[in-house]
Amino acid sequence: MSRQASIELLARARLCRVACAHEGQPYVTPMRCAYDDNHFYGFSTLGQKITWMRANPLVCVLVDEIVSPQDWASVIVFGKYEELTDATHLVAHRQHAYNLLQTHPVWWEPGYVETVLHGKARLMEFMYFRIHIEQISGHRGAPDAAGLADSGASGGTGRWFRRILGRSEQQSGDR
Ligand SMILES: Cc1cc2nc3c(=O)[nH]c(=O)nc-3n(C[C@H](O)[C@H](O)[C@H](O)COP(=O)(O)OP(=O)(O)OC[C@H]3O[C@@H](n4cnc5c(N)ncnc54)[C@H](O)[C@@H]3O)c2cc1C
Repeated sequence: MSRQASIELLARARLCRVACAHEGQPYVTPMRCAYDDNHFYGFSTLGQKITWMRANPLVCVLVDEIVSPQDWASVIVFGKYEELTDATHLVAHRQHAYNLLQTHPVWWEPGYVETVLHGKARLMEFMYFRIHIEQISGHRGAPDAAGLADSGASGGTGRWFRRILGRSEQQSGDR
């Protein structure tokens, strides 16, 4: 996908998967997000992901749109986590995060819902953050028009699948 098409997908996204890593251990969580001007904005309760992103601000974010097994698009972002504290120079960015996120109804609910872990309700302190986007790549599945057109006759296998089958039949014939 072009950079522009990838950015347009990021701008439509309401849900993303944020991956962070600590001492070699990756950790991924679903989160509400809002894109604006090369940044992702989010709202979070305090917990493992925030502790880990504070320790190591390098993150990876996945956003996708899946229409069917052939018709999909996904964008992967590498970026840097920044906490939007109440420090004077960050107040406007915090407000901006709120303005962007609150355009979606009950935007805070998935993050702020009470959850119980090992029998204990988790901490319900919350904060805002943003991710500075440093690298973007976008891939789109290309629906196989010919394969779709004859999917009834071929049991839905499609041209690409027959190509693979053809190759493995050829390989077994070579043996
Ligand atoms: C659709 C959706 C949207 C969400 N949006 C937000 C959001 O905007 N902001 C936000 O803060 N949270 C959001 N959440 C919840 C989020 O995914 C985390 O579950 C939550 O924030 C706690 O993460 P934590 O790292 O603080 O976990 P902690 O409370 O510190 O718990 C640590 C342990 O709990 C387990 N754990 C944590 N979260 C999950 C999970 N989702 N599934 C399975 N195991 C888990 C992990 O094993 C982890 O090691 C959303 C969840 C969903 C499903």
